[in-house]
Amino acid sequence: MDLGIKGKRALVCASSKGLGLGCATALAEAGVDLVMNARGAEALETAASDLRERFGVAVETVAGDVTTEDGRAALLEVAGSPDILVTNAGGPPPGVWSDWGREDFIRALDANMLTPIALMTALLPSMMERGWGRVVNITSQSVKAPIPALGLSNAARTGLTGYVAGTSRQVASSGVTINNLLPGIHATDRAVSLDTGVSRQQDISVDEARARREATIPARRYGTPAEFGAACAFLCSEHAGFIVGQNILLDGGGTNATI
Ligand code: NAD
Repeated sequence: MDLGIKGKRALVCASSKGLGLGCATALAEAGVDLVMNARGAEALETAASDLRERFGVAVETVAGDVTTEDGRAALLEVAGSPDILVTNAGGPPPGVWSDWGREDFIRALDANMLTPIALMTALLPSMMERGWGRVVNITSQSVKAPIPALGLSNAARTGLTGYVAGTSRQVASSGVTINNLLPGIHATDRAVSLDTGVSRQQDISVDEARARREATIPARRYGTPAEFGAACAFLCSEHAGFIVGQNILLDGGGTNATI
């Protein structure tokens, strides 16, 4: 399918690896020029060269932490007025409800709620002026079904979801859509670190920890960054202009719910 976005320009945050890279790759394959970001420069430059070579698109890079004001300012300066924005950043650490104080919540809200909101606030006006824009926020399945150990993530991402629900309906008449993609477990570095934690706790191998987690998923496997990226690119496509304010789960059926 021709996604109809060849020659558009996208800012993809936290995209040197994992789900962000999956999104950047699928957009590059659709002919979209990119501004990529990640904290470390080395993996970022490697990923950017690979996409330039494979798809012949222009790729600019900005190394820095997107959850800081300075990081965002540097990113926005290079990005200018992109047609497409994909927001992403690492998730908050796990723990127990009684561990978390005000500062922990402020950090989580800054990273996973206020950062995407700041980027949308900066970039929506130019998209609306041009009468076309796409925003995809990478959130989590924890928005639909809470993950108890990730209370900071549950809270911050649900706040972002409420913001998107209202804002997406205010900008839709200008040809701009905002939607959220909700990953369940995907095969990224984060999954390896989660499985490593379980293997230590339960004194089993990392492979066994993964096998046990896979057994809890109806699809019996982890998702891939490529599958996730393809869903993102579709939401950014010409064909998705009537999809507004939705929360789309990619979890292999892991969230046991009718709707
Ligand atoms: P990850 O933690 O493996 O992140 C990979 C990329 O994000 C790297 O390029 C890294 O440099 C970049 N990054 C992280 N924090 C950044 C920051 N503050 N500023 C700039 N770049 C940053 O993540 P992932 O597994 O690809 O997941 C992406 C998001 O989806 C995270 O918020 C994660 O919590 C969430 N999520 C992931 C899964 C999963 O199974 N992988 C499941 C549910 C939710």
